[in-house]
Amino acid sequence: MIKIDHLNKSFGKLDVLKDVSLEIDKGEVVALIGPSGSGKSTLLRCLNLLEIPTAGHVYIDGTDITAKATNVVKIRENMGMVFQHFNLFPHMTVMENMIYAPTKVKGLTKETAKQEAMRLLSQVGLAEKADAYPATLSGGQKQRVAIARALAMKPEIMLFDEPTSALDPEMVKEVLQVIQDLAHTGITMVIVTHEMGFARNVADRICFLDGGTLVEVAQPQEFFTNPKTDRAKEFLSKVL
Ligand code: ADP
Ligand code: MG
Repeated sequence: MIKIDHLNKSFGKLDVLKDVSLEIDKGEVVALIGPSGSGKSTLLRCLNLLEIPTAGHVYIDGTDITAKATNVVKIRENMGMVFQHFNLFPHMTVMENMIYAPTKVKGLTKETAKQEAMRLLSQVGLAEKADAYPATLSGGQKQRVAIARALAMKPEIMLFDEPTSALDPEMVKEVLQVIQDLAHTGITMVIVTHEMGFARNVADRICFLDGGTLVEVAQPQEFFTNPKTDRAKEFLSKVL
């Protein structure tokens, strides 16, 4: 589903991603972990061309999205992204947030988009908030709406960049639960997270990034009990 092939990304003289290669299967759940500044967000953003790679290729479903002729809008339609800071439109109700892209980009009628939106809001436990404005929601509720909104585009891939890092501790669980419910339903997921317990329980593979290099890729059980590299051992000794 996703093939990252010798990907490099530099900001001026700063080499942030160094020769990263990785293949992710359809339906797979990958947790991307590593120290702050290791390039996790940059890697995620290269997957939907929020950042343009300096060298290397990214293939989505066989299409080289780094090729010049790529239709970036089309690629992004197929990829939902959830950020640390929700990014809901503050002047729109939850329902208006939900149907904005499906009506504007996909051309759905308002009625069809609303029906699907209600289904998704129910799925994340927020059907009763359809007419609320984002400012009246808790952080956890905002993030659940952001996830539902991304799903409204029916993406084949979901990218999560530290979806719980900005939340008060008591709200982390409800958001992780929504993500966990989504895992292994066919959607391909890449999740940057500092929630090690969650990564261990939910991910099919752990990708450990350090200094812009993909240092270790392993199954969770293997990675957390028997890390191969000193860098992974040191990282785990700090976060576990
Ligand atoms: P992580 O998500 O793992 O914390 P990032 O991908 O955000 O790491 O950042 C990796 C490095 O790239 C950091 O040193 C950061 O300062 C740098 N960086 C990220 N985005 C930019 C940018 N737009 N311009 C310059 N440097 C950047
Ligand atoms: Mg980051």
